[in-house]
Amino acid sequence: MLGTNAERGEGTRSVRAGRPQPGIGEPSLPGPVFASHFHAPGELTGNYTYGRNGHPNWTLLENAFSELEAPNEKVQSVVFPSGMASISAVLMSTLRPGNVVVLPSDGFQNLPLAQAWLEANGVIVRLAPTVDDFPVDQLDDADMLWIESPSNPWLNVCDIERLTRAAHERGALVAVDNSLATPLGQRPLLLGADISVCSVTKSLSGHGDLFLGYVTCRDNGLADALRLWRKTSGAIPGPMEVWLAHRSLATLQLRLERQCANALAVAQLLVDMDDVTSVRYPGLSCDPSYSTASRQMKSFGPMVAFVLPDKAYAERFLGSLKLVGEATGFGGVESTAERRGRWGVDVVPEGFIRFSAGIEDTDDLVRDIVEALAAARLSR
Ligand SMILES: *Cc1c(COP(=O)(O)O)cnc(C)c1O
Repeated sequence: MLGTNAERGEGTRSVRAGRPQPGIGEPSLPGPVFASHFHAPGELTGNYTYGRNGHPNWTLLENAFSELEAPNEKVQSVVFPSGMASISAVLMSTLRPGNVVVLPSDGFQNLPLAQAWLEANGVIVRLAPTVDDFPVDQLDDADMLWIESPSNPWLNVCDIERLTRAAHERGALVAVDNSLATPLGQRPLLLGADISVCSVTKSLSGHGDLFLGYVTCRDNGLADALRLWRKTSGAIPGPMEVWLAHRSLATLQLRLERQCANALAVAQLLVDMDDVTSVRYPGLSCDPSYSTASRQMKSFGPMVAFVLPDKAYAERFLGSLKLVGEATGFGGVESTAERRGRWGVDVVPEGFIRFSAGIEDTDDLVRDIVEALAAARLSR
């Protein structure tokens, strides 16, 4: 039955996600509502009163994320002004002094900063790598397991279903940072996790022009705690960003399909190059993550990681690219690449490149990379 969200394909679901029932004379996607307060006479009965408590553009986009994260189920999503605001909302609204949280040792570069303020607030932080043979004894007495799979920037993958079972046996909540895969590539809640967190800044909005994030969960109490955190911390997204992100969702499936095809083509090209090592892409059949990734993911995301011989070589490569821009971030319509070592935070070799595939024609992208590698090699 095409009428139900669960029966539709990803492209159809992306176009329609969160859009209200058509109304005569109404736009398909209502525009940004610029209001800090709403008309609210007498007893407070309406959904919207003061814009920090709730906002109509949030509601529509939250419905959209819920439909994408768990098409068959009743879940709740809460939007935040960035991916990082979503991560801190989960950590701050659930963990208490004395609680134990297991964080990835190889994840997003801001997690070590979160570790510092968690510890300052009495939370005990354990670190564990994102690997198939994850040390499950790290989960003993834990209150929360934080998974980032695939991880940024090394694209390591772990078995979410297996780890979630091990965590639940020990009474720990499981949160998954799904920013790399997006809900079209991987559905953490359907793999058993309690919480899915995603940076909308990346592939979900896809145009490199806004910050946004969200959290999706099943538990009503948890969703209430997240909304209370948003209201009391005051970390609220603006209507323009929310509307732009919602508009961008319509092309999500199309963009991702091209990004993933481009990323795979680039990874396949690089594995055969003599001066390139440690090529990582979860969708590459020779990748150490491939068997787990292909079981739990529907597509493998826009990011490819690889290592060039040294810093100067990497700089020459980046400087010779004509289509691929040198920038941080990933998931945008334009391909970008950067030498991660320049940040001084990730544990990576000096020649480590994080590449994000855009939606350019595959042939053009491949040629740009082949030519830039040749230029980097020549001037050695
Ligand atoms: C970028 C990123 C974040 C943070 O998102 P922002 O929107 O930049 O705050 C969190 N997790 C992962 C895996 C990311 O790549």
